[in-house]
Amino acid sequence: MVADQKTKKYGDAVLQTRFPPEPNGYLHIGHAKAICLDFGLADEFGGRTNLRFDDTNPEKEETEYVESIMADVRWLGFHWEGLFYASDYFDQLYQWAIQLIKAGKAFVCDLSADEVRRTRGTLTEPGQNSPYRDRPVEENLNLFERMRAGEFPDGARTLRAKIDMASPNMNLRDPVMYRILHASHHRTGDKWCIYPTYDYAHGQSDSIERVTHSMCTLEFADHQPLYRWYIENLGIFPSQQIEFDRLNLTYTLLSKRKLLQLVNEKRVSGWDDPRMPTLSGIRRRGYTPEAIRNFCAAVGVSRTNGTTDIAMLEHFVREDLNRHAPRAMAVLRPLKLVIDNYPEGQTEEFEAQVNPEDPAAGTRQAPFSRVLYIEQEDFREDPPKGFFRLSPGREVRLRASYFVTCTGVTKNAQGEIAEVHCTYDPATRGGNNPPDGRKVKATLHWVSAAHAVEAEVRLYDKLFTKPDPSQVEQGQDFTANLNPDSLEVLTGCKLEPSLAAAAAGARYQFERLGYFCVDSDSRPGKLVFNRTVALKDTWAKIEKRSGS
Ligand code: ATP
Ligand code: MG
Repeated sequence: MVADQKTKKYGDAVLQTRFPPEPNGYLHIGHAKAICLDFGLADEFGGRTNLRFDDTNPEKEETEYVESIMADVRWLGFHWEGLFYASDYFDQLYQWAIQLIKAGKAFVCDLSADEVRRTRGTLTEPGQNSPYRDRPVEENLNLFERMRAGEFPDGARTLRAKIDMASPNMNLRDPVMYRILHASHHRTGDKWCIYPTYDYAHGQSDSIERVTHSMCTLEFADHQPLYRWYIENLGIFPSQQIEFDRLNLTYTLLSKRKLLQLVNEKRVSGWDDPRMPTLSGIRRRGYTPEAIRNFCAAVGVSRTNGTTDIAMLEHFVREDLNRHAPRAMAVLRPLKLVIDNYPEGQTEEFEAQVNPEDPAAGTRQAPFSRVLYIEQEDFREDPPKGFFRLSPGREVRLRASYFVTCTGVTKNAQGEIAEVHCTYDPATRGGNNPPDGRKVKATLHWVSAAHAVEAEVRLYDKLFTKPDPSQVEQGQDFTANLNPDSLEVLTGCKLEPSLAAAAAGARYQFERLGYFCVDSDSRPGKLVFNRTVALKDTWAKIEKRSGS
C-alpha cells in the first residue's frame, strides 16, 4: 500500500477505502479490526473512507442493524466521508448486467440452485457447461428483463457470468450474478425481485466509489480473480482488493450468525449483553474506544489467520482505564467492622486521590465512622499461612484512614460471623505509619456503613468454557460450550457515597477489585454496575514469560 502511493498507481487520486458491513447483525470486535484498518489507512495517507452497507440480502437485513452499525463506528471514533448502500447501485448493476449479456459474457440459466451446485465440479474435477450457456443474446435479454419484471418464481432462473467451467478456481465457474427473490428490501421495498450476489455487487460498488484499496478478510482471496474479471470486462475503475487476516479471539465467537443465535435463544439478554463480543456489548461493559483501537493496532495485520489471546484485549482495556478511571471504594460482599474505641456518632472525612496516575484529577473525600464495611474475603477467623489480611490479633491499614487491630468476632444464630470487632490507633491518622515505625502487611478498602450507597454489581466471566468455543462433540453445537457461570449478580453491595450520582456509562476503578462501569439499567437510588475487567493482568505475565 505504501508502494502504491510511491508508484502513484492511481495517479493523483486520493487513497479511498470503504468499510462494507452487511446489515444483518451488530458489529463485533473483529469488525473493529477491519474498521481500524480501513479508516486508519485513509487517515495515514490523507485519504477518505466510505461507510457502505452491503445490503444485497433482503431477507436477513434490517434497519435496526444499520443504525447500530453507524452508532458503533462513530463510537470507535471514526468519521466516514460518504454513506452508501450497495442497494443505491442496483440500477447501475442491472445496466452492467445487460452490458455483459450483450457482450456474450452472461446468460440466463434455468437450472435450479441444486443443479447448479451439482454441475459445478469439484476441486479436482471440472464442472459441466449449463445446457443454457449458449442461449442467444436476444433470448437472454428477454428472459433477464422478465426475471426483473417478476414473471418467474423464486429460484426458477439465475443470471450467470460466462467464464470457464473448467477453471481451477471454483469462483470462476460461471458464477451466479442474479437470483430471483420476491422479498421486500429494507430500502428499495418491492422495486426489485432479483438481487445481485455479493461477488457481482462488491467490486463494482467499490469501482463506483473509486475505492483504491478494498480491504477484506482472507477468505475472499479466492474471489479476487472474479472481482477483477467483472471490473475488467466492464472496463470500469480498477479498484484493488487486498486481503488481511480475520481476528479470532480465544473463548470468543466472532460470527454474526452465531451471535444472533445466542440472542434468539435468549442465552444472553440481547446484542448488547455485556458478555457479548459485540461493540455494543463491550461498550456497555465499560470497554473504551481508545482501548479497542490500541488493541487493534497491536494485533496488526498479516497474511495468515491465527488466534489472539483474549487476555491481550483485556490488557489494553486495563491500561486505558488505569490512566483515566477515577478511583472509588466499594465493598462487593460486605462484612461489618465495628471499631469499639471510635466515638459513636463521629464522622471524619479522609482525602484520597481521584487517580494516582493523573494528579490533575484532584482528590475526593471519603467519610469514616465507627461502623464500616469491609470485604468478607479480607477477614479470616483462622488465617491460613500466607494470609496477611485481617484476623484476630492482626493489625492492618484501612486505606487512607487508620490502622486497626482485630479483637474478635460476634456470630449470628447460624454460627456465621456477623461482625468483626477492632480498635484503631489514632496515631495512624490518614493511614500513615505510626511514630513507633510499626508496619502492617495489608491495606484494606472500606466503606462507612452510615454513609454507604447500595448497588447491584454484575460480575462477568468468559461466555464460553473452551478456548475454541466451536470445538464440540458430535451432535452438539457451540452452545454446549456456554459457561453456566458467566454472570454473577451481587446485590446489597456498598459503595462510597461519592458514587450516588454516577451516570450510566461512567467508569471507575473500585480499589483492589477492578474496573467497573455504570450499566444502562442503573437508576438514581437503584445503581447497577458492571465489572468491566478485574485488576489482575494475566497478559502482562504471559508477555513477560514469553519475552524472557
Ligand atoms: P461475520 O462472519 O461475523 O458475519 P462478515 O465477514 O460476514 O462477518 P461483514 O458485515 O460482511 O461480516 O463484514 C464487514 C467487514 O468486516 C468485511 O470487510 C469483513 O471482512 C470484516 N470482518 C468481519 N469479521 C472480521 C474479523 N473477525 N476480523 C477482521 N475483519 C472482519
Ligand atoms: Mg458477510
